[in-house]
Amino acid sequence: MDLTVALNERQRQAVETTEGAVLVLAGAGSGKTRALTYRIAYLIEQGVDPYNILTLTFTNKAAEDMEQKVKKLIGDQISNMYLGTFHSVCVRILSQNLEPLGYESGFVIYDQSETKALVSDIIVTFDLDKEKYDPQSICRIINKAKQNLWTTEELIDYYEDTDFYQNIAEIYVKYNEALQDNNAFDFNDLIGKTIELFEENEEILEKYQERFKYVLIDEYQDTSPVQYQLARMLSRKHNNIFAVGDDYQSIYKFRGADMSNILDFSTDFADCKVIKLERNYRCKANIIEASNAVIEHNYNQSDKQAWTDNEPGEPIVIAEASDEYGEADYIVDEINNLVRFTGYDYSDIAILYRSNHQSRVLEEAFVKQRIPYYIVGGLGFYDRKEIKDIISYLKVAVNPQDTVALKRIVNTPKRGLGPRTIDKLINHAQEHVPEFDLFSFAQEDNTLGLFDVMQEPTQVSGIGKKKAAKVRQFHETLEQLIAVKESDLSLPQQVDQILKKSGYQAMLELDTSENAQTRLENINEFLALTNNYYQKNKSRDLEDFLRDLRLFSDQDDLNEANQVKMMTVHAAKGLEFPVVFVVGVEEEIFPHYRSITTGEREDIEEERRLCYVAMTRAEDRLFMSYARERKKYGETQEMIPSRFLDELPREVVLEKYHDLGF
Ligand code: ATP
Ligand code: MG
Repeated sequence: MDLTVALNERQRQAVETTEGAVLVLAGAGSGKTRALTYRIAYLIEQGVDPYNILTLTFTNKAAEDMEQKVKKLIGDQISNMYLGTFHSVCVRILSQNLEPLGYESGFVIYDQSETKALVSDIIVTFDLDKEKYDPQSICRIINKAKQNLWTTEELIDYYEDTDFYQNIAEIYVKYNEALQDNNAFDFNDLIGKTIELFEENEEILEKYQERFKYVLIDEYQDTSPVQYQLARMLSRKHNNIFAVGDDYQSIYKFRGADMSNILDFSTDFADCKVIKLERNYRCKANIIEASNAVIEHNYNQSDKQAWTDNEPGEPIVIAEASDEYGEADYIVDEINNLVRFTGYDYSDIAILYRSNHQSRVLEEAFVKQRIPYYIVGGLGFYDRKEIKDIISYLKVAVNPQDTVALKRIVNTPKRGLGPRTIDKLINHAQEHVPEFDLFSFAQEDNTLGLFDVMQEPTQVSGIGKKKAAKVRQFHETLEQLIAVKESDLSLPQQVDQILKKSGYQAMLELDTSENAQTRLENINEFLALTNNYYQKNKSRDLEDFLRDLRLFSDQDDLNEANQVKMMTVHAAKGLEFPVVFVVGVEEEIFPHYRSITTGEREDIEEERRLCYVAMTRAEDRLFMSYARERKKYGETQEMIPSRFLDELPREVVLEKYHDLGF
């Protein structure tokens, strides 16, 4: 491996300074990630066992890319290296040390909807007013507490010592107990529990400290204080820590990331070496000039030089459209031009937006115009909540003993029942019908078990009269679903009936939010898909359909090849594409409404950094578009072009106007 060819002098210094603490602080596209990748290869080439290396990336995708690149440089000998996100590395550590934590193998990780359900349950158990104790807000407080590793006392200290926060503290305690009872971690626990493990078991910590002779961190500016604490703990023995980052790109404050990390690094690690990279290899000069001009409007940041040898390239296009459909049309036109006349592939192109929901109108236009696309990190059709819900209802109709599916739908729509109640029922079934295998899919003899326990819920300990009535009612609903499944109705009719009898459709119809409307549309899409399937496979029943659905969704993911990629700006961090469209560059969208209403300069600055991240993803061509008006909650609203567009130097900009019709 010849470093002199692949790297500039500063990068080489970053790679070859293997001992001690090193911080690389440099702008977008300056080759930080490249230096980090070469450093791994270099260490191994110098005889370091991959087993002794810990590399932390910001996304799983980044970890995969890095692994591929290292393998390309030095071959396939890195399987025992720890390379992944903070979270995935913690999962690995936790799963090797469950016993001291009081967990068992086969633990689960709860997602947001599951943690929220758990909190709702606790609010019910505590007999608190749901209006006042809104589960969503309480989850937010719990998240904050966990991100800061607060004890209950610290939580109360931070807020106020009122009944309200006393109750929240109690919910917090109960919530943590419930997680442990369910052999579950929430997302924050992954790091929090790892730290707890290390704090309470010195010998375990020492083992890992001994192991990780070299610790490397990418996207360092977005590590949270807790992640930082963990990295420090792990590198304390050998003190070989290498971090690369860019304070201009710190965009995760809302998730607890703390820019002071990057500024504190040199004081926390004695004899820390700071290396600055100044040459941008990624972007055409116009793009660098434009993105620098934007970020210069922020006050609070380090001073960095940036230069490039790259040619100026095309001007940055700022495109105005009449409305969101016009904007989508415009993008379709540009993409067609780029692919037909300029020689780009669809896969060279990325569409970046501030918020997930902005993809919908674009998706519609792409489907109509046959532009292949892929949503990165976002939810594929089968990952959407409502689609997962309806599939769970179908699963339950086929197999009422499917506890995972049951838990998913038991309280959607709201029935005053939560996963804890289901747990009690499961425990009861397990204790009283020991030969029954709760988790197998097709029961030979399903005359006994969870489903039957629901019929006689009063026998179950911990379930009072009121709860029991609700359980029985739910049991009746399930019986209706099973009856639908066993009826002579056609497959699409069965699915339709299950949607109705479960109350799921009514729940969405009664909900007037935009979100519920989108969900209904997706449900309709699912019905259309069911119909389609039925037309092709008339002989197949619900069970076959469910099995085949799995196959569709698995294939979906494989098909990433020549497609336009769509994602949020957050998800695009660290990535690069020849052509980038940043869409919806309007006040209240980008910068986001929330950041404007707080009136805090720091919030706008975070949005500006986000804009900087978006722009610097582009290698050759950058398009930024806005609409003059847009529908919001069914009403047309006038939009104002984003302030960030005003910050672009006119010399590098080309303005275009795209209007529907004439
Ligand atoms: P970001 O802050 O966006 O994560 P980065 O600093 O990590 O950016 P890289 O992704 O490592 O930048 O590099 C940007 C591009 O420049 C990549 O395509 C990389 O291969 C290329 N590059 C970096 N350094 C060099 C070099 N010395 N010679 C040639 N190409 C380079
Ligand atoms: Mg990078």
